[in-house]
Amino acid sequence: MARIQSIRGMNDILPDDSPLWQYLESTVARLLGRYGYREIRFPILEQTELFKRSIGEVTDIVEKEMYTFEDRNGDSLTLRPEGTASCVRACDQNGLLHNQLQRLWYAGPMFRHERPQKGRLRQFHQIGVETFGMSGPDIDAELILLSARLWKELGISEALTLELNSIGSSESRATYRQALVDYLGQFKDQLDADSLRRLDSNPLRILDSKVPETQALLADAPVLNDYLDEQSKAHFDGLCARLDAAGLAYTLNPKLVRGLDYYGLTVFEWTTTALGAQGTVCAGGRYDGLVEQLGGKPTPAVGFAMGLERLCLLLETLDALPEPAPLADVYIVATGEDCEVRALSIAEQLRDAQPGIKVLLNCGGGSFKSQFKKADKSGAVLAIVLGEDELAAGRVAVKPLRGDGEQQSVALEELANYIENALH
Ligand code: ATP
Ligand code: MG
Repeated sequence: MARIQSIRGMNDILPDDSPLWQYLESTVARLLGRYGYREIRFPILEQTELFKRSIGEVTDIVEKEMYTFEDRNGDSLTLRPEGTASCVRACDQNGLLHNQLQRLWYAGPMFRHERPQKGRLRQFHQIGVETFGMSGPDIDAELILLSARLWKELGISEALTLELNSIGSSESRATYRQALVDYLGQFKDQLDADSLRRLDSNPLRILDSKVPETQALLADAPVLNDYLDEQSKAHFDGLCARLDAAGLAYTLNPKLVRGLDYYGLTVFEWTTTALGAQGTVCAGGRYDGLVEQLGGKPTPAVGFAMGLERLCLLLETLDALPEPAPLADVYIVATGEDCEVRALSIAEQLRDAQPGIKVLLNCGGGSFKSQFKKADKSGAVLAIVLGEDELAAGRVAVKPLRGDGEQQSVALEELANYIENALH
């Protein structure tokens, strides 16, 4: 029969790769804990309307990338393409926003129907960080410093650049929008089709266009920064001053607008040149209007999300992988029904007495020779060998698998202590 394959762009994470993922996820989770951030989990499916209303109708994600379908009741549902909208929905619905400050994070798969390539998948994974209730640049700076510390702990700082911009308040953006439309209106015949369409619906997104001809037109376009009102400027200056005081370098990128509609004021991206076209590993910004837009009370908010596939690729590219851990410290070898039965309980007793030691039990039988082969492959330092006569005398053999130590006969009641001493 023909084999059923996975969906294109939706990868399996295999056992050889999962240690890297666990290292990455646990490093991020530990760091976030040190900053007082708490985890939130929400569903992978939401009502389509949630993403349309938050991300914006005229964005790549909503126009072309969402996995949307009707369920059996005829409701339109969408596999989450990102986490911010769901996080806001969950927090508002559960009363976490009113008169409260929140520092939160989440991790999990996101879904976008894009062209799969290196660092770009249809099911990919993000860790997102969102904060609510804080309107000043201090929390923007905290988030950025937190991410910078993460790169340091992962050993990838050198390869990452912080790009920073302010896209101002919605009022400043409205003034700028008109200036941009007036400017680009003169070159309608030279704009790509997407940008032409966006000239009416969402002109700021044109700044983000990847079409070289459009980018060339933008070289002389008005710059958003010149249109910022006093408050937007003060917020951005406050953020820059804090990053300067902390000694964190950044590059001002006046064209950075981000592909989602809900952002205002601060936007930032961490980018690398080490991964080709998929160079953004982490991106975020302020979205003070979103909670209200989704039906809640006005609530200042700022957050970011990092793409875990791209971070894994970067760790691999930079050779910043964690030390591989062996599968086992101790491997238990036994042949014959009686010894195999005893082996199981000896393994359990050892795990009771020494919870820090990895004990791998030979299952599935096999000759001594084949069991020792598996023992060696497991990376174990010691083998515990069960033989019938020795067991009858209440003893087992402990054989060093690395180095040139001698095999020892050890009484069962001494085994846990002996193993502990032999390993340390
Ligand atoms: P890009 O410009 O690369 O399409 P984006 O602006 O659409 O990215 P965001 O929505 O800001 O991405 O998501 C935050 C992060 O999630 C990105 O910086 C990236 O690391 C990761 N990411 C986004 N889309 C994908 C994808 N299809 N596959 C893998 N990672 C992704
Ligand atoms: Mg994208």
